[in-house]
Amino acid sequence: MSKQTDDFFKNIVSHAKEYGFVFQSSEIYDGLSAVYDYGQLGSELKNNLKTYWWKSMVQLNENIVGIDSAIFMHPTIWKASGHVDGFNDPMIDNKDSKKRYRADQLIEDKIDRYEKDGKSDKAAQLQQDLDDALNADDLARLKNIIEDHNIVCPISGTKNWTEVRQFNLMFDTQMGAMADGAEKVYLRPETAQGIFVNFLNVQKTGRMKIPFGIAQIGKAFRNEVIARQFIMRMREFEQMELQFFVRPGTEMEWYNKWKETRLKWHLALGADPAKYRYHDHAKLAHYANAAVDIEYDFPFGFKEVEGIHSRTDFDLKQHQEFSKKKMQFFDPEINQNYIPYVVETSVGLDRLFLTVFANSLVHEDLSTEEKQDSRVVLKFHPAIAPVKAAILPLTKKDGLPEKAREIMAKLKLDYNVQYDEKDAIGKRYRRQDAIGTPYCITVDHQSLEDDMVTIRHRDSMEQERVAIADLGKIIGERVSWTNLLTQLI
Ligand code: ATP
Repeated sequence: MSKQTDDFFKNIVSHAKEYGFVFQSSEIYDGLSAVYDYGQLGSELKNNLKTYWWKSMVQLNENIVGIDSAIFMHPTIWKASGHVDGFNDPMIDNKDSKKRYRADQLIEDKIDRYEKDGKSDKAAQLQQDLDDALNADDLARLKNIIEDHNIVCPISGTKNWTEVRQFNLMFDTQMGAMADGAEKVYLRPETAQGIFVNFLNVQKTGRMKIPFGIAQIGKAFRNEVIARQFIMRMREFEQMELQFFVRPGTEMEWYNKWKETRLKWHLALGADPAKYRYHDHAKLAHYANAAVDIEYDFPFGFKEVEGIHSRTDFDLKQHQEFSKKKMQFFDPEINQNYIPYVVETSVGLDRLFLTVFANSLVHEDLSTEEKQDSRVVLKFHPAIAPVKAAILPLTKKDGLPEKAREIMAKLKLDYNVQYDEKDAIGKRYRRQDAIGTPYCITVDHQSLEDDMVTIRHRDSMEQERVAIADLGKIIGERVSWTNLLTQLI
């Protein structure tokens, strides 16, 4: 990371904490590694992002329904899905610092360094070697690469490495009170399997016809070998996943369609398109016949935010085999029974949160010849802003607070709004800018006479005078989900 991007990332983390968006979990006990809590504004923003996703999937598409499956599931599910045997990361320890790393990430960091030093050929060759080793599941080769390229531990600076070993990322616990009779269960590492095992329930009770989708938002848990970069890689995180069931042979058509649809969804939030790119997987997971990531240009480089995978009939077939229940669909159009193929879209809510934060956080210099001035603004799309409007009486007396409270009492029935009467008006505007409130409504002495107020716009800082009676409608139109959702149709 260059000094500038490093500073920007530090700003994101400190701004998120200072204004109640994200806190380190268990902070008063010195924190728990790679676990975070969302504060009063962070949970509002997160809820709004979930709503945007849910509406775009379930509400806009007649053939997509949403479910909420349990985190605990029958342990055989994870055997069938391949997670018990194959959900591993290659890890390596440095014997001097006693620190553990993901072998592939150490190598990727080296590739980045070669790129930065202008050694593109070397970077490309190393990428190829890494892909080959991963594809072949060749752990000894990974170790050789680390040695051949003189990769040292960032803490100890030495090359005193252990062998590379596989490390399963699933957390497990015991279900049942008696230690003897207790059954080992897993905290789900993805929400997808909860959808697959409910495929028949939903298809039958919802009378769903192929093609159709099942959407779900929920927590997932992975014991990441190394967790870093704030809410980018957490041990407890949230996913928003769609499994879209299609007729075999049509999956690539749907895969391409979802690939396009999902990028459009991200861009509708207002980000610069140059910040996003597709990245095709060199190494396909055991279940996939095509896979692509949507990557975002974080301050620490392009990284995955969402994965789109053509999962074939792997999961349903496995569950059919392990559960001995038929996972088939009778397709009346072709008069045939088959196990559907699946196209999955899987976006991490926390990573999405980070992209939105990075896209929105702006430091603006407002200096004029007369005076130095600046502000920090979170330019969230109004539909996802945690607070939609702030109601600000110009002074604390002369009946202005009462008038402002009357407005607040009406608006709060529909929107998350804040009342603030402390400090000078300029300072209050700045506070709202810093949390991304799109509209500030100022009540002044004139308001008592003409029942009009001033709306101040966050981004342009322009002001307009409007009737109090029209406020609900005006705010409603501007923060409406329609503004986002129409871009998707
Ligand atoms: P990575 O390669 O970065 O570990 P992945 O390929 O394992 O990610 P998927 O299994 O495809 O990720 O999960 C889908 C989405 O879930 C990812 O695109 C990401 O947004 C999110 N995600 C996965 N692991 C984490 C994590 N540890 N913390 C936060 N979000 C995560």
